[in-house]
Amino acid sequence: MPIIIQKYGGTSVGTPERILNVAQRVLDTQRAGNSVVCVVSAMSGVTDGLIKLSKQVSQKPSDREMDVLLSTGEQTTIALTAMAINSLGGKAISLTGAQAGILTDGLHTKAKIANISPRQIRKHLEEGFICIVAGFQGQTLQGQITTLGRGGSDLTAIAIAAAVRADNCEIYTDVEGIYTCDPRIVPDARKIDTIAYDELLEMASSGSKVMQSRSVEFAKKFGVPFEVRSSFNTNRGTTVKEETPGLENVVVRGISVERNQAKVTITNVPDRPGAASRIFSTLSDAGVVIDVIVQNVSLSGTTDISFTMNKDELEKMDSVLSTVVREIGAGEMVKKDGIAKLSVVGIGMRSHSGVAAKLFEALGNGGINIQMISTSEIKIAVIIDEDKIAEAANLAHTAFGLAG
Ligand code: ADP
Ligand code: ASP
Ligand code: MG
Repeated sequence: MPIIIQKYGGTSVGTPERILNVAQRVLDTQRAGNSVVCVVSAMSGVTDGLIKLSKQVSQKPSDREMDVLLSTGEQTTIALTAMAINSLGGKAISLTGAQAGILTDGLHTKAKIANISPRQIRKHLEEGFICIVAGFQGQTLQGQITTLGRGGSDLTAIAIAAAVRADNCEIYTDVEGIYTCDPRIVPDARKIDTIAYDELLEMASSGSKVMQSRSVEFAKKFGVPFEVRSSFNTNRGTTVKEETPGLENVVVRGISVERNQAKVTITNVPDRPGAASRIFSTLSDAGVVIDVIVQNVSLSGTTDISFTMNKDELEKMDSVLSTVVREIGAGEMVKKDGIAKLSVVGIGMRSHSGVAAKLFEALGNGGINIQMISTSEIKIAVIIDEDKIAEAANLAHTAFGLAG
């Protein structure tokens, strides 16, 4: 019997009525002659609510206890979904991450999946059960509860699909698929029919949070094609798969927006080997994730180095870098928040030129100043003022003819 994995996100299980809707859909899928594993997220707002609660009792809760707390969100949903299916006359059983055989490393709050042993899942499927698995969580070899990073239920679904060699993996959410840009930002964004892993990976890791980027990485690594679609209707969604020659014909597939960024400039850095290494190894040792880096050409013996990061990392960056700036004999450290990143993504860029020129022209005509530029083989990203980001996304979307 074909095995289908279905994942339902927070909004799709956000109310008792919606859980009953999911229960009915899952049941229909089983009755159509399939074995079904259903991965669910916490009901919408629950994970954020739990994080807020933790802050009311502790300024710095330990990562271990955060995992124990946050995993309860998904645990609530699996029980409710299983009950709903049973009340509709079906046969379902709920499984925590540990019960589903999801083994992780011990990096609490962003654990990596080390192994999945799908024995329990297979056994229950053979007995005719629908398995309802808690997304976003696993267990270490020592029996500690872990979570897989925000949005981690996507990863649970893809990983189980790989482990049981599922025939189909379907990610159900509150939009009809992957759009050319977040439809909340660009109202005339269009649903994409097919997208390559690499394109979605670039989009997801540069702000399009429709899929967790780690889950897309996993899908690419293990060759798990999947479909992103709506839990509110039966329309076809977006197929995500390995790239094929036809996919290269479209130069720009989509546009991503990442808000809440900050820029730091270190002025008058002595232009000698080792200076940049000292700065960035200090940041890396402290776990500060750096995004775009720009170093100006030096004519006078010193150079300015600018880099961007998430605004929330600014304080940590400051605390570890102030001394280093002094020690290497650099000038000052200038910090600026209120900036955002706009990325234009498409595998067709490998074989087509002119994308950067078109993007810069569209932004220039709109009076939007570009502060930094970064490129990869399939992406061009610009750093601009955050209050212009929606306008910039709409301008770029029109310039590349992405509207429906
Ligand atoms: P779920 O709770 O189902 O996991 P998410 O909130 O994580 O859902 O992801 C769905 C949301 O992602 C959409 O409501 C949409 O606003 C946002 N989003 C961002 N970028 C895109 C995009 N390119 N295409 C579709 N949705 C996007
Ligand atoms: N509940 C978790 C979160 O809100 C995981 C998920 O929804 O995928 O991040
Ligand atoms: Mg999500």
